[in-house]
Amino acid sequence: MRLEDWHTHNECCHHAIGSIEDYIKSAIKHNLRTIGISDHFPYEFLEGIENIPYNEYAITLPEIENYISTAEKLKAKYNDDIIVRIGFEIDYFKNQESALNNYITPIEKTLDYILGSIHILNFFDGRGAWGFDDSRFRKDYKFYGVDKVYMFYFQTLQKMLNSPQFDFDIIAHFDLPKKFNDIPNNKEIINNEMMKALELIEKRNLVMEINTGGLRKDCKEQYPSEIIINEMYSLDIPILLGSDAHNPDVIAWKFKKMIKILKRIGYNQLAHFNKRKMILIEM
Ligand SMILES: [Zn+2]
Ligand SMILES: [Zn+2]
Repeated sequence: MRLEDWHTHNECCHHAIGSIEDYIKSAIKHNLRTIGISDHFPYEFLEGIENIPYNEYAITLPEIENYISTAEKLKAKYNDDIIVRIGFEIDYFKNQESALNNYITPIEKTLDYILGSIHILNFFDGRGAWGFDDSRFRKDYKFYGVDKVYMFYFQTLQKMLNSPQFDFDIIAHFDLPKKFNDIPNNKEIINNEMMKALELIEKRNLVMEINTGGLRKDCKEQYPSEIIINEMYSLDIPILLGSDAHNPDVIAWKFKKMIKILKRIGYNQLAHFNKRKMILIEM
């Protein structure tokens, strides 16, 4: 089978190495069937992000046009070699869906898919927003404690899944709070919140990303864990693969190993997106 990588970044977001073309070339070299271009959607119009170094987190609003037109040109250029799909990874911020939609609606028709993510939490306790997967915010992670971060993350994820205004296709790195290998103490209560999120994913017919970026982090494990993938399988939640590459060298990172694990669990199909429509392909 030929693999597909649906989660890749590039220099447009100001913290990844390499041009969009470098990622496409690497994907061709890896003999992929499809590469999804999914850089970080802009943040600068959001409220309450004063603490966040958002200029280095994402594309800026004026850069959107160039991002899309460059990707479209490359899609045509490499048409005989690989399928190029164009998307965004978009962060969910509670109660800011309409601000977000002001900028998404005009470009919606050009997009093949949207990854929905949470990288930033705000407890609204006066400390402000913070990026829980950014090592520069480790003091905040320690301030709140592991269990509280996990709890709040999964509750925020439920809000995202319950928001019809937040329109997306794929949940990215579902259990991201484990990135720095922080293990929760009260696993039962966190599992409970996690299961609620999984049921919402199933109800909304969304796709879950199996993100191999986690294998390169302190947790040394894909997002989500095998235990969670088993739960997803029993809920019949469709999946696809993402490397979360911020460097062209890690395109399709450990995908072959991942496919073996997924097949052992029982999965035999992967999701594919074209203009926001999902189909399943055999793996
Ligand atoms: Zn990034
Ligand atoms: Zn992400």
